[in-house]
Amino acid sequence: MGRMEIKTISEYNYRKGQKNGYIIITDKPLKRAIIHRTTCPNLEERYLKQKVIDNNNKYGNYFWITNTIEADELHAEWCLHCK
Ligand SMILES: [Zn+2]
Repeated sequence: MGRMEIKTISEYNYRKGQKNGYIIITDKPLKRAIIHRTTCPNLEERYLKQKVIDNNNKYGNYFWITNTIEADELHAEWCLHCK
């Protein structure tokens, strides 16, 4: 339980290959969070790289969760493609 932050590209790709969880992307400037299924076509490695690696989480974070209750804690909204 609990959310786990995704900090590397390899971890991101590992999680993307799993079916029993969700990826949450937070946006600090917009003060919001979006939840995605791992199969979402809107999830792209280059976005993770930009936000987490290149900008060092300055504008947001990636999290892995296995239960949508965790998404409520972040006030995450469903991605329009994923809901
Ligand atoms: Zn999505």
